[in-house]
Amino acid sequence: MYAVARVTEEDCTAEKGCRLCIVVCPEPDTIDYDPIKKVAVVNEERCKGCILCIAGCSVQKCIVMVDM
Ligand code: SF4
Ligand code: SF4
Repeated sequence: MYAVARVTEEDCTAEKGCRLCIVVCPEPDTIDYDPIKKVAVVNEERCKGCILCIAGCSVQKCIVMVDM
């Protein structure tokens, strides 16, 4: 079992321009802006669980780790 990042959509401020998690994630195409939902979304199959996105997120507890 391992953990991956998941964005709490109600808390994400990506619609207002935040992209911090996307900038800090070292894995290509793993966390990206969803223009339909207007939030950041993690591709859980690609996430390596490094938690850099949590460290970079401007909203406390907006990104959480969940067990796969
Ligand atoms: S935990 Fe690491 S690999 Fe996964 S989305 Fe966050 S920064 Fe990217
Ligand atoms: S850093 Fe946090 S608030 Fe900003 S886009 Fe990513 S998940 Fe949303």
